[in-house]
Amino acid sequence: MVTRVVVTGTGTPIADPDRAGPGVLVSHDDIHLQFDAGRATVMRLAATGIALQDLTALFLTHQHSDHVVGLADLLMTRWLDGTGTDGRSLPVYAPSGMASDLVQHILVPWQQELAMRNDHTGYPGRPTAEVHDFEPPSRPQRIFSREGLTVEAVQVRHEPVPGAVGYRVTTPDGIVVISGDTAVCEEVANLAAGADVLVHEVFDLSALPAGTVSDARKIAAYHSDPGAVGSLAQRAGVATLMMTHLIPAPQTVDDYARFVQAARSGGFEGEIIACDDLATVQF
Ligand SMILES: [Zn+2]
Ligand SMILES: [Zn+2]
Repeated sequence: MVTRVVVTGTGTPIADPDRAGPGVLVSHDDIHLQFDAGRATVMRLAATGIALQDLTALFLTHQHSDHVVGLADLLMTRWLDGTGTDGRSLPVYAPSGMASDLVQHILVPWQQELAMRNDHTGYPGRPTAEVHDFEPPSRPQRIFSREGLTVEAVQVRHEPVPGAVGYRVTTPDGIVVISGDTAVCEEVANLAAGADVLVHEVFDLSALPAGTVSDARKIAAYHSDPGAVGSLAQRAGVATLMMTHLIPAPQTVDDYARFVQAARSGGFEGEIIACDDLATVQF
């Protein structure tokens, strides 16, 4: 058996024609777990070959628009792709509060349109999200378990966003950790202990052209410097570091090399990938 990690989106709130919004797909056997649903997630999932109906569950890291703006699209496209006959709701795990509230209400503005489709096509039912909310735990806590696969969550450091979390997926093959959006923190270091793959966000303030975002220092403070991520990954004993949510988004060979070099200079000795969309690691 194999565990496959596909970064479905490496983007940020900044529109980029080559980068979908944040997302990671972790697959083991016939279990397919999607983490976050940023802009164009359904298009990247289509490229993975995994049908939307075959998603087992979705997990949200936090409510920042770039991580959730593709959720309504995912729910409705999943329903339509099943020609409306597949009435299974999609389990969505989200931190209690803003994120879970959003999931609860995400399809409310679409009910008139969906009713029109029901009338026109005869499709039964409606797309729905089965909300599983949880209090963001200060220590890793199991929130999902199926057939030898578990998902743990822990609160990370993305203040002022309340209750942002990272996830640790343990399969019979090994461990995948997803940082979500966070400053470099011990919570993620502990979560990533012994991970085969760490998917971590990065923000290289030193590479950001002046004027790219207003108040860049403030923004950088709740994201992660790639050198410090390299140091964290080394301490945690991570095998492969997949850098995502890349700011500034690399475009040239030198840009990619700069991210890799930064993580290397932080002391990381494992494999480093500055990810494009659909970057994949199997183990
Ligand atoms: Zn983000
Ligand atoms: Zn965020």
